[in-house]
Amino acid sequence: MTPNAVTMLGAGLSGALMAIYLARLGVEVTVYERRPDSRKVDMDAGRSINLALADRGIHALRQAEAYDAVAPLLIPMRGRMLHAVDGTLTFVQYGQRPHEVIYSVSRPGLTRALLDHAQRRYGIAPRFLQAARGLDFESDRLVMLDEVSGDSYTRPLAPLIAADGAGSVVRRAMTGQLGVQVVEDLLDYGYKELTLPAAPGGAHQIEREALHVWPRGGFMLIALPNLDGSFTVTLFLALKGGPDSFAALHSRTDVEAFFARHFPDVVPRMPALAREFLEHPIGRMGTVYTDQWSANGRAVLLGDAAHAIVPFHGQGMNACFEDCRELDRLLRATGDWTAAFEQFTALRKPNTDAIAAMALENFTEMRDTVREPKFLLRKELSFELERRHPGRFIPRYSMVMFHHEIPYAVARERGEIQAGILASLTEHVDSIASISPDRMDAVVREHLEPLAQEFRAAR
Ligand SMILES: Cc1cc2nc3c(=O)[nH]c(=O)nc-3n(C[C@H](O)[C@H](O)[C@H](O)COP(=O)(O)OP(=O)(O)OC[C@H]3O[C@@H](n4cnc5c(N)ncnc54)[C@H](O)[C@@H]3O)c2cc1C
Repeated sequence: MTPNAVTMLGAGLSGALMAIYLARLGVEVTVYERRPDSRKVDMDAGRSINLALADRGIHALRQAEAYDAVAPLLIPMRGRMLHAVDGTLTFVQYGQRPHEVIYSVSRPGLTRALLDHAQRRYGIAPRFLQAARGLDFESDRLVMLDEVSGDSYTRPLAPLIAADGAGSVVRRAMTGQLGVQVVEDLLDYGYKELTLPAAPGGAHQIEREALHVWPRGGFMLIALPNLDGSFTVTLFLALKGGPDSFAALHSRTDVEAFFARHFPDVVPRMPALAREFLEHPIGRMGTVYTDQWSANGRAVLLGDAAHAIVPFHGQGMNACFEDCRELDRLLRATGDWTAAFEQFTALRKPNTDAIAAMALENFTEMRDTVREPKFLLRKELSFELERRHPGRFIPRYSMVMFHHEIPYAVARERGEIQAGILASLTEHVDSIASISPDRMDAVVREHLEPLAQEFRAAR
């Protein structure tokens, strides 16, 4: 591959994994990262401390032979544990096969494991505290700032892979200088991260192998387990508008009353709740749609820099890792930076648009639809149809989370047809025993084609 050297911007999740893929290709990678080395400085308090890792992310890690480095960090989550206001618990499993689970993983832990692996196996040593300030496509220069000395300097693009996250400097330069169209769609909801500490002795206070959800209609609380026995708890709430919004929660009394009203089962388990709430920042979420990710073979956007999405399907990082795998495949297939960058946009954009839409849809499901009796009925029916029609009916959640071989766009398209099938079969019944198997089979066969062979995995 010519040139045989590349500049990577950002040593976050996308940058760290892509650097590993590139090193395996024999490409010399120079990584610049604005922040300090997370292996030496703890910086992530209050900012999405843990993440759900699923099949797509795991597959990409395996392909880069990096999975073993992160496996010890993973806690399986077999389903959602729904918490009603009266404390009633309902467990809804994610899949119906033993391997159909997702994993909670610490964001800083995962980043550190990837950076360690990159350094130990391939000698990649990112240059920390080096921030890109701008980019000039005409002179082919990246303008950098050394955050330690305060000195500015330039680097040739040569080419550049921009993994600099949702606020990407490179994307902004592409918009300003190349006319790339970008839509940044911010939600009018925010999130706040809190802690449910371990019990004395280090045990988890609530079920360890579940993603806990307190769905409350317009808003929700979720909790993901950590290895030290704690849970990271996240409140998703409207920024303003009425008593159930961040704007209404100013004081310790406001916060305590809000949690006591909506989440009474968890309050006694979170002694630092009010203090953390008042100290931690409100995070913003949004979707970034970019119509062109490649800048004439000189630069390409990767991960959130190209397509940040809202977190409600737990797929942002998984989609980023899938990006890395696909870009690696294209570089191997074409042996040419320009061709690979161009094909990368064409191949990935329909899929990242699809997961962006599904992530937004899942917000309604998690905070609202899961409370409806028909939700559980449809979930049960979708497992039954999967058993009766393997290779044809796969629940949409399973296609997204457990089937990396099915592109997001295909999952979305088939998911819509399947939603119609589930709605029609459950319209006038309240148990699947009331639906005749013949009717189930007839409706599925009439509306849903078998999955194309190319999207079936040998499992
Ligand atoms: C609340 C929340 C929960 C989430 N939960 C999940 C989940 O459960 N599962 C999941 O798959 N995804 C989840 N995500 C999404 C996931 O966090 C992102 O998709 C992922 O972090 C994107 O990785 P990235 O490397 O592309 O960008 P980032 O993680 O943002 O990394 C970008 C890196 O570039 C650096 N950088 C930025 N600008 C510059 C510059 N000018 N110069 C040099 N360096 C720079 C940054 O410091 C950073 O290290 C969640 C996101 C949020 C907000």
